[in-house]
Amino acid sequence: MINYGMNGKVALVTGAGGGIGRATALAFAHSGASVLVSDVNATGGAETVTMIEAAGGKALFQACDVSQGDQVKAMVAKAVEAFGRLDYAFNNAGINNMGANEYDDDVWAKSLGVNLTGVMLCMREESEVMMAQGGGAIVNTSSINGLVGNPAQPGYTATKHGVVGLTRHGALRWAKAGIRVNAVCPGVIETPMTAPLAANEEMRKLLDSMTPMGRMGQADEIANAVVWLCSDAASFVTGHPLVIDGGATVF
Ligand code: NAP
Repeated sequence: MINYGMNGKVALVTGAGGGIGRATALAFAHSGASVLVSDVNATGGAETVTMIEAAGGKALFQACDVSQGDQVKAMVAKAVEAFGRLDYAFNNAGINNMGANEYDDDVWAKSLGVNLTGVMLCMREESEVMMAQGGGAIVNTSSINGLVGNPAQPGYTATKHGVVGLTRHGALRWAKAGIRVNAVCPGVIETPMTAPLAANEEMRKLLDSMTPMGRMGQADEIANAVVWLCSDAASFVTGHPLVIDGGATVF
């Protein structure tokens, strides 16, 4: 893992109680940043903090449902209160209603609330702090389903396309304020989200075969890209939806 020299910097990660969020929180800490670990899952969030502290890093957990504006406001305020600033934000919390009918009103509303409104609420609050500070970097989690269609999941597809749109909007809106806004578009990644599918041997073979590289991606492979996008090494990169999918969308 590369150390991007983030000593004295502060990162906020939503959905950091497991999967891609946890791996990214650990990667920020490895580069020296203090990390505000946030999730609806308090047990997972506390575990992530323990892992960061065990590796010699600094972290604090704040519970937050990203679909709730008051909770998002409190989460961002907590990062500033605890660590004094906010340099990087990874708006990663998301749900995939695998197996549910996303045309059901409730399922559709939940997708929109967490996957799209959640990212908007986070960007709104984070950008206020970053503008006052003179800059920062935001990365949002989209998906390959934010770039290509998915016949099974209208909600997931629409919200992840929406995240790419919000990312492009934010990049333009805050370019002169020194805030870069990018997105990651992961392919099939081995996390608790995909674990129920991957647990079935036949399904695992199918998932592996969906990627030209012949395997699922690992959470670290997304985390490394997120920390790079936030770092000074990516200082001229903004508005970019970075595909990390082992070639799944190359065709
Ligand atoms: P994960 O392992 O399920 O982690 C997501 C975390 O977000 C969980 O801890 C979850 O809590 C939390 N969460 C759910 N709803 C939330 C809310 N309303 N507010 C705050 N936190 C909430 O999933 P992952 O695979 O790491 O996915 C992370 C992101 O990557 C998601 O946006 C997902 O759509 C995206 N993504 C994943 C894949 C993949 O193949 N894994 C591919 C493309 C994109 P609970 O445990 O309580 O649910």
